[in-house]
Amino acid sequence: MLDIQAIRANFPILTQTVNGKPLVYFDNAATSQKPQVVIDAISNYYSTINANIHRGVHALSQLATDAYEVSRQTIQKHINAKHAHEVLFTSGTTHGINLVASGFSAFVKAGDEVMVSALEHHSNIVPWQMLCERTGASLTVIPLNDKGELIMEEFEKLLSEKTKIVAVNHISNSLGTINPIEFIIQKAHAVGAAVLIDGAQAAPHLKFDVQALDCDFYAFSGHKTCGPTGTGILYGKEEWLNKLPPYQGGGEMIKEVTFAKTTYADLPHKFEAGTPHIAGGIVLGTAIDYLNGIGFDAIQAYEQELLVYGIQKLQEIDGLTLIGTAAHKTSVISFNLQGIHPYDVGSIVDKMGIAVRTGHHCTQPVMDAFGVPGTVRASFAFYNTKEEIDALVTAVLKAQRMLS
Ligand SMILES: *Cc1c(COP(=O)(O)O)cnc(C)c1O
Repeated sequence: MLDIQAIRANFPILTQTVNGKPLVYFDNAATSQKPQVVIDAISNYYSTINANIHRGVHALSQLATDAYEVSRQTIQKHINAKHAHEVLFTSGTTHGINLVASGFSAFVKAGDEVMVSALEHHSNIVPWQMLCERTGASLTVIPLNDKGELIMEEFEKLLSEKTKIVAVNHISNSLGTINPIEFIIQKAHAVGAAVLIDGAQAAPHLKFDVQALDCDFYAFSGHKTCGPTGTGILYGKEEWLNKLPPYQGGGEMIKEVTFAKTTYADLPHKFEAGTPHIAGGIVLGTAIDYLNGIGFDAIQAYEQELLVYGIQKLQEIDGLTLIGTAAHKTSVISFNLQGIHPYDVGSIVDKMGIAVRTGHHCTQPVMDAFGVPGTVRASFAFYNTKEEIDALVTAVLKAQRMLS
């Protein structure tokens, strides 16, 4: 069992009041809050070892480089990558997906297919559309059922030797659906397609093993995982990262440069051009250590408890419709009130100190599939409480009274 009050004490921002009310932070799917160890680690880095990495022979540069590489190993162990050089530091999920989609021009030609799902974040749609535009490949889309689950029979029908890569999320940000990625990876590999998993919503909530999954690429964001903004990870299988052309050219990613020819550095540096977010990369390791200190089993069990409680309480409200009722879900509840725009609900609950997200959540095709302009989304983290859910229910009822 988690000691939630002790955990909450790790997050200084949670003690705030907003609009005169205690802050209830239910926008965790957009970004998580940061524990004091993460905040302190950023300050410590700049106060003690700030220097550029992989370049200087001087002491500080060595210390900064060591800390950066230790963090890479922490993340390697956490996701069980075979090699540390399969773990690339990025600025976030978006960067990771673009890196792969850009390089995939080398492996995709006119007539080929690139597959995404109807449940994707725009970050896992647009880069693939750009790839299709460059190469003449076409985009295929795994459809959704009315619970917000991917239809696996349709996926299998769409899949063929023409499919070169399948890019799907592990967990949907707008609905919380947990997708059967093991099945998707296995079936895609059977036709020779590579698989990229967008794990932005999985990394904060569950532990995953990239070797057991056998995915070719797995991208996630640091800032949704208790780490700093502007950080992220792209895991890639060594054989793929060796084949894939570099995404950006510059310092750090080269072996030798002449005007006649440049040779690229070994992994991971081939994909890490320029000076990275050094403090962020180091502190992402701190954030992962913090989460492992609490334990993902305990986090998952408690968040499921919040989900079940939240669904039960919100369902009691007349005229409230839940959007996304998948059998396997994380702690995301999307809903609408009959005849009321989600934005208006969001504004009123904000007046009561409650932060929820309203709108399309960067997933317009999901909203289209449900025929709604957007939803109100409450997304819970392990530092949230049932009392906070009660406060949300009270606020939603008030919004309903005021707006109808
Ligand atoms: C947040 C999110 C992204 C984009 O992440 P950034 O950190 O903004 O790059 C992509 N996919 C999913 C499922 C997300 O939740």
